[in-house]
Parts: sequence; C-alpha cells; structure tokens
Amino acid sequence: MCLTLFLKNGLKISFKIIHEFSPEIKEIKYIIKQNNVKPLEGKSYKGKDALLDLEPQLELNINKETNLNPKYTFDSFIVGSSNELANAAAVAVCKNLGQVYNPLFIYGGVGLGKTHLIQAIGNYINKSDKKLKIKYVSGEKFTNELVNSIKNQETSQFKDKYRKLDVFIIDDVQFIAGKDKTQEELFHTFNSLYEKNKQIILSSDHQPKAIPLIEERLRSRFEGGMIADIGYPDFETRVAIIKIKLQEKKITLDDEVINYLASNFQNNIRELEGAINRIIARSILINQTPDLNFVIKSLAEIINKPKRITTFKKIVQVVSDFYDISEKDIFNRTRKQELVKPRQIIMYIMRKDLNNSFPYIGQKLGGRDHTTVIHACDKITKNLELNENLKEELLLIRQKL
Ligand code: ADP
Ligand code: MG
Repeated sequence: MCLTLFLKNGLKISFKIIHEFSPEIKEIKYIIKQNNVKPLEGKSYKGKDALLDLEPQLELNINKETNLNPKYTFDSFIVGSSNELANAAAVAVCKNLGQVYNPLFIYGGVGLGKTHLIQAIGNYINKSDKKLKIKYVSGEKFTNELVNSIKNQETSQFKDKYRKLDVFIIDDVQFIAGKDKTQEELFHTFNSLYEKNKQIILSSDHQPKAIPLIEERLRSRFEGGMIADIGYPDFETRVAIIKIKLQEKKITLDDEVINYLASNFQNNIRELEGAINRIIARSILINQTPDLNFVIKSLAEIINKPKRITTFKKIVQVVSDFYDISEKDIFNRTRKQELVKPRQIIMYIMRKDLNNSFPYIGQKLGGRDHTTVIHACDKITKNLELNENLKEELLLIRQKL
C-alpha cells in the first residue's frame, strides 16, 4: 500500500508502507492529521524524514481566487528587531494601498518569514475589503503560467489576469533571473499596475541590486519603492515564535525545552518548526513526554549533523569524475563540447552553492572572463528547465559533493 501527500509547490511525496505495524506509519498518520492533508493512494515512495522536514501544506485551505494561505496572518507573525522594519512597512501598505510604498520589496534568507509576511498583507486586505482583487504568486509559478500561456496561445488571458489586479504579490521573484520572456512580461505587468496606483509587493532572497541576471529596467522598478530586509531573529524572538507555533499546534513544552530549541535553531524558522514537528511525532509514537532529555535525543541527528560545506577542489574533482574527463582539462583553453559542459556545470555550482562572484569563478577556472561565467550560469539555469537529463545529472553530482 502507498500513501501520497501533496505538498507545497505542487510537490508530491509518496510512502510505501512496507509493514502494516511499522512505526513509521503511526508517525506519518499523525503528521497527516496534524496538517489536515488528505492521504491519497499513489505509486512511488520516499523516506519519512522528507515529510517531517517539508511541512505539508494545508492545500484544502488555500484560497482559490487569491492563492493565499489563510494561516499566514499578522496575528501569528512575531515581530522582533530582525523584522521590525519589514513588518512596519507591511502594515503601512495595508493601510495605504498603492500610496506609500509601491512597490514594497521584502528580502532575506531562507525560512525567515518572507512568505508569511507578504501573505499576511494579502490576507489582511482580503478581509478588510472583499471587493479588491488580490493575487499571490511565486516567481516560479508566474514563469510556468507564462510558458503555458504561450504554448496554448492564451497570452492575452494571462496578461489580463495580472493586469486587472488591485494587489499583486509575487514571492521569490529572484526565480525569474535569466528568464528574458518572463522578465519582459513582469516589466509590463508592473508598469500597467503601477500607473493605476495598484499595490505591488515582492519578495526575494537578495536585495534588487544583488540579484544576478536581472534586467536593469526591472531592477530599477524594484528599487523604486520601499526595500526592507528580514534578518536572523534574536533569541527572544525565536522563543516567541516557538511559543506561537506550539499554541497553534495546541501543544505545551517546558521552558527548558523551548530554550533548548531556540538556542539550537538560529538561522531558519522553517527548520525550527520541522524540529517541533519531529518532537511531537516521536513523542506520540513512543508515548513519552517530550522533556529535555527526550528532545535532545530526538534531535541529535539533526543538530549534530555535520554541515555540508563543499569546496572548489571537491566540485572540480566530482564533476570531472562524473563526466570522465581529466581535472586539468577543465582549466585549459579548449572549447571541445565534452569539456564545455562540465566546465559550465562547475561554474553553476560555484555560483549557486558557494555563492562565489562571477569574476572569482572565472579566475579560478583558468582565467576566464566574468561574462563567460555569467553566460554559463545562465545557460545551465535555462537548460535545467528544458532538460530532464541535466537535472538528474546535477542531482547526482550534488549528492557526491
Ligand atoms: P521564507 O519565505 O522567508 O523562506 P516563510 O515565510 O516560509 O520563510 O517562513 C518559514 C516558517 O517560519 C513559516 O511557517 C512561518 O510561519 C514561520 N515564521 C517565520 N518568521 C516568523 C515570525 N516572525 N513569526 C511567526 N512565524 C514565523
Ligand atoms: Mg518563501
């Protein structure tokens, strides 16, 4: 028997249930119940940890019209020094649509509350005036919708849909970097809304000037309103976040446990929530109160897991090994096709995983110009969308790093 769960971003995870009384089943069942995800039958399977870390989405509750998830509200958003400015700007936007900060651009690292905050704006506005047309979309979804509309010759419907909005919220806008058609479309959507004083809200992992491969005209539009960052929450904010999450889950934990969690998860609230879910699941599974000892044991695997930090040397070694070429050929000048691709993949991984600058990458790879590196990263990014094999190859390479 198999279970399939439908997660955030349309991801699907399925579990093959090997033994009817295997402990995993209870754990999975509990998580399903916790998140109201409907189990469905499917075919493939993956490990249970994927589920615990991914946090199933309350698919059923997502507003079909706006794409907003009602669980993201200002009430459930803890404000601390790390997000004070962003929160204040978000509140101001709610009160003066299209008037004060247009666009509002929120940026910050992974799992720090960008999606929560920008959806909270949408939910607030939706509640206060049902007539306003609001839409939330991720950069990825916007791109896919555009691609499909081109394919099906429905671009005018696509344009219409976004240009008639009162509030347009686009999450993880960095996704459109390097995608010319999408950037062009977003540019026109932006202008059309902006001219009518309609509110635009964006989020990204970096501030506009640090997003690579984005057209200048879009960048300057992004910079034209208010830019606010969300940083790492301090200890007190983390404690408050844990408390509100426990309240939502209707669970209590001792203060010493809460402090332990707040001390050990500093950089990513999503991981912190994953840890809470893991503790709850495990405590139900083996029927034990989650005291400090129990929690330390439950999280040992996650907390003590050595951080995977790869190096330039390792990337070159793994990639040349994977494509069966010699390491020194990577650095030489030949432009033989069988060398060009591995070289471009190395550049891409250095950029994405090590966050190296384009000139630095060029210099490390035998003194190449930074424009060559930009072109390589761009090309791999594009090909990853079109080419399933390349995706698979990159996945295998990354597993070895
Ligand atoms: P991002 O979009 O920045 O990657 P999310 O908005 O998805 O991050 O946040 C990850 C999780 O952390 C969500 O469940 C969110 O509710 C929670 N979270 C982040 N910041 C806060 C906060 N300040 N208060 C309450 N929950 C938060
Ligand atoms: Mg997000």
